[in-house]
Amino acid sequence: MPTFADLGLSRPLLEALAHLGYERPTPIQEQAIPELLAGRDVIGQAQTGTGKTAAFGLPLLEFVEPADPEVQALVLTPTRELCIQVTQALRAYGERRGVEIVAIFGGAPIRDQAAYLRQGAQVVVGTVGRVMDMMSRHYLMLSDARYVVLDEADEMLDLGFLEDVETILSRCPSGRQTALFSATMPPEIRRLAETRMFDPITIKVRAETLTIDTVDQFYVEVGEREKAGALARVLKSERPDQAIIFVRTKIGADRLARALGDRGVRVKALHGDMTQGSRDGVMLAFKGGRERLLVATDIAARGLDISGVSHVVNYDLPNSPDVYVHRIGRTGRVGRSGRAISLITHKQRRELAAIERHANTRIGEWSSNGGPPERSDDQPRRPRHTKPHARDGAQGRRVKLMIGAGRAQGLEPADLIGAIVDHSHLDGEDVTGVRVLERFSFAEVPPAKADEVVRSVAGKRVRGTELKLEVAGR
Ligand code: AMP
Repeated sequence: MPTFADLGLSRPLLEALAHLGYERPTPIQEQAIPELLAGRDVIGQAQTGTGKTAAFGLPLLEFVEPADPEVQALVLTPTRELCIQVTQALRAYGERRGVEIVAIFGGAPIRDQAAYLRQGAQVVVGTVGRVMDMMSRHYLMLSDARYVVLDEADEMLDLGFLEDVETILSRCPSGRQTALFSATMPPEIRRLAETRMFDPITIKVRAETLTIDTVDQFYVEVGEREKAGALARVLKSERPDQAIIFVRTKIGADRLARALGDRGVRVKALHGDMTQGSRDGVMLAFKGGRERLLVATDIAARGLDISGVSHVVNYDLPNSPDVYVHRIGRTGRVGRSGRAISLITHKQRRELAAIERHANTRIGEWSSNGGPPERSDDQPRRPRHTKPHARDGAQGRRVKLMIGAGRAQGLEPADLIGAIVDHSHLDGEDVTGVRVLERFSFAEVPPAKADEVVRSVAGKRVRGTELKLEVAGR
């Protein structure tokens, strides 16, 4: 098995990878990195979770010349979420290369993004729509972009962006190097590759590092207030050897542990607000098999080897397919089959369908003893635990938050959205009106979420700066 050094990467990148704890290249990295470093066009057929971002990102970072302020590399993404994710990954990988990476995406002021570009950036990661927009306003020049990546090309096709992608490619130098990554290869994407790439080599991998093929996956549709009851029933029927129940927030973890306790189900909670000592205690008890059920947040479960776990339950559906694959891909290892059960509300059916599509998997409806779950005993016995969230009366009403850091601290809109999404249970789409000024910034969130965001994001570090947040106006 080769190391990253064997693949021909330079010291600054190797150091960054070591710092991130990446020990060995994944299969797509092992195959794609040497080809891309050699200047070849590459088609990577790989789904999310395979390490594709580093596969195209590491050669990209080697390719660009930090001393040259022109845009030398472009990564096109179908969505704003992916744009932010890729930007954050590239920044982490390129930390010691002195490369400026600018994210451009809709929903944040175009002038701010133009200002970042004017300051000089070697790499642009952008959504198709915003790249088109910025090109037409002459904010973005691609005449030096000789390394171009189309990430999740099939998704671009689904969203109707293919024509725009062609236009963008036609603005890049014809002698460029092009990498195209796509989970599937519909005919339109094949044609794009044939006409727009030069003698590409195709590399196909399945999500081997995190396979979910051996995991039987189910969903249970249930009302928001009936979730704890439904979960208790699922656990009773499934009788897992050991299960991890994932929730999105620390508060949610505590609340669910209590609600299950009230129903006579013994569980332990694991989340970031606990002291290190009590976290270690819970982890040890779980690893040693002394605890059977764990309610955990994604972050807290990060260090846990859960390959012996028979069941994963998504009490809260994760907000990206990537996280879904991460959560359930760790169960059912070594020839054993695991089971994963996701609780969803009716409204989340679309999210579930998106996960099935992205992760190229099937999630069937769960039933206990062959029948659908009964609804009758779903009623919460203790309404105080299940107070519904206040809804935004008028769709689109926003609360403005002020953040005490700005350009002077190196902050960018993507950092801010990333911080809010990482530390609260908001989706990227919930964060709008992001403006980064010299010493402070603004973002808008739904009224019902404002307090939670202030509480959970305040004090978190972004680019070395501790964020201070307050509500600027309701
Ligand atoms: P991606 O498929 O690019 O979204 O990557 C999936 C996840 O795997 C991300 O969380 C990466 O940080 C992580 N990852 C990528 N490459 C490696 C590696 N060689 N070793 C460990 N983790 C990795």
